[in-house]
Amino acid sequence: MKTIGLLGGMSWESTVGYYRAINEGVKVQLGGLHSAKIAMVSVDFEPIEKLQHAGDWDGTARILVDAAKNVQSAGADFLLICTNTMHKVAPQIEEALDIPLLHIADATAETLLAKGIKKVGLLGTGFTMEQDFYKGRLSEKFGLDVVVPKQADRDIVHRVIYEELCLGKIDANSKAEYLCIIDALAEQGAEAVILGCTEIGMLVQQQDTRVPLVDTTMIHAHKAVEYAVK
Ligand code: GLU
Repeated sequence: MKTIGLLGGMSWESTVGYYRAINEGVKVQLGGLHSAKIAMVSVDFEPIEKLQHAGDWDGTARILVDAAKNVQSAGADFLLICTNTMHKVAPQIEEALDIPLLHIADATAETLLAKGIKKVGLLGTGFTMEQDFYKGRLSEKFGLDVVVPKQADRDIVHRVIYEELCLGKIDANSKAEYLCIIDALAEQGAEAVILGCTEIGMLVQQQDTRVPLVDTTMIHAHKAVEYAVK
C-alpha cells in the first residue's frame, strides 16, 4: 500500500472528512485491521485566507509549497491538496515536488464522465466558481459544460463557506439557501451539482435533494484509496 500525502487544514473541518473517508475506504478494500498509511501536514488557515482575499496567490503558494515538501519528506508517495480553492496554486506545488499530485478537479471530472454527465452545476468559493483554474480545467480538459449560480447566489455560497462551514457552524437557513441554489442550477440544465468546496458536504447531503450531488471531498478521498491500494 502506498503512503497517501495530505496537505490539510483548509479548513481542518474538511480534513477530518478526508481522514475518515480514506481510512474507511482502506478498511473496505483490505479488511481486517488495515488502515491508511498517511503523511499529513495541516496548515494554519487564517493567514492563507487573508492572502486569498488580498489576491496574494504567490504568498499562498509559498506557504503551500513548503508544506507540500514536508509531506513529501515525511514519506508520501503522492499528494492530495485537501481543498478545491487552493488548486489555484497546484501548478507551483506540482513543479516543486517529485511525487505526483492527484488533482481534485480531475478526480471529479472522471467521476462525472463515468456517470455520463455532460452539463454540471458548480458550487464553491467565489474563486472556484469564477476563475478558470477549476472551471476551465473541467471544460477544456474534460469537455464538461459548467454552470455557476448568479452573482447574488455566488455571494451567499462564498460567505457561508468562510463565515460558517470553515468554522464548523451548520445553519439551517444556510442549508435552505444552498438547496434553492442547487435547484436553480438544475433548472438551468445541470444534470448534477459539484460540491466544489470540501466543506459543503457538511451542510448538504444527497438525501436533502433530488438533484444528483457530487461531493469532491468523498471523490478525492476515494481516488486516493484506489491509487494507494492498486
Ligand atoms: N475547503 C474549501 C475548498 O474546497 C475552501 C477553503 C479554501 O479556501 O481552501 O475550496
